[in-house]
Amino acid sequence: MRFANATLADGSRHDVEVADGRITALPAASGRPAAGDDIDLGGALLLPPLVDGHIHLDKTLLGLPWVPNQSVGNRVADRIEAERRVRAARTVPESETGANLVRQVVARGTLHMRSHVDIDSQLGLRNLHEILKVRERFAGLVTIQIVAFPQSGILRSPGTAELLDAAIAEGADLLGGLDPVGIDGDLDGHLDALFAIATRRGVGIDLHLHDGGEGGIAQMVAIAERTRAAGLAGKVAISHAFALGSVPLDRAARTADLLAEAGIAIMSHGPGGATIPPLTLLHEHGVRVFGGSDNIRDAWSPFGNGDMLERAMMIGYRASFRHDAELAFALDMVTNAAASVLGVAPYGIVPGGPADFVVVEAETVAEAVAARPTRKLVVKAGRVVARDGVLVP
Ligand SMILES: [Zn+2]
Repeated sequence: MRFANATLADGSRHDVEVADGRITALPAASGRPAAGDDIDLGGALLLPPLVDGHIHLDKTLLGLPWVPNQSVGNRVADRIEAERRVRAARTVPESETGANLVRQVVARGTLHMRSHVDIDSQLGLRNLHEILKVRERFAGLVTIQIVAFPQSGILRSPGTAELLDAAIAEGADLLGGLDPVGIDGDLDGHLDALFAIATRRGVGIDLHLHDGGEGGIAQMVAIAERTRAAGLAGKVAISHAFALGSVPLDRAARTADLLAEAGIAIMSHGPGGATIPPLTLLHEHGVRVFGGSDNIRDAWSPFGNGDMLERAMMIGYRASFRHDAELAFALDMVTNAAASVLGVAPYGIVPGGPADFVVVEAETVAEAVAARPTRKLVVKAGRVVARDGVLVP
């Protein structure tokens, strides 16, 4: 079949010929009217599938009656406590709310994601098991990479290191971490535990690092040293990395060089209440920079909807982007760069590649980011899985 008259990111018009779930050819648009199963896109813009590099499928309360935020303080530790209260009151399993969120994000064009899943001594591997069910249920539609995330710390929640190791054995793809100093108060202890498991299991690491200022930079330097020593270049990411946005630019630039040499990627969701890392500077210094939603309608944040075009806009808004090239960079963070960090391959709109793409009414990529139009079509393996923002049953 043929998706006729598509506009690609470079402005050229093509027909997309599809067979057996793959793009077989991308000839210049013929102008031939659509026939049979063909779909005429009428010049609409074709984007590669959106990629959410940081989501929390087990935390969301999406689909449940509204739950007011219960955090009494503004520190990470206060929010961890608030989440315990919210979780204790839940009656619907995380596999159901996680499924609600997957359906919502697929309708908005996300076909690949990296989900952190909470693990601590109270929860054990319960949330992992719930999200493994979601991954299996939607396996034909989305890829879900799972990070075993020690939300309560590793050292201050005894037994968590063993649980993280068990999580990898049971199907988690990467190890998470959380503010080695700000939460665990022990930089070496936290990193010793993570890198020992990562080395033994041959998996990557994606740490949440909220700690700001020079203290946060020092932790990044330590993570870079250990990544190099463990031979984990390309398999380690730091999420948030607020510290890079709270130190002078020359300090951020020197740290960027260290991160690039160590092969460490940086995830930003365009934070509303914290310093944002200097994204273009990081990119210019060779650091892979990618985007994610982070919290969506959960005990941490009432906001978010998993729409990665909207996320690109929010990142651009926070980073003061204005020019088309900057908006294209914001889109790259939630498409090519995120796919690269997650190891999604092959990826992109190319002959021989998967027939996965998103169609929007926009003239250019920059307009798509600025206007974040409804997804006209979401196509997975050549099949229309969502139309006008609604999943096809
Ligand atoms: Zn997060």
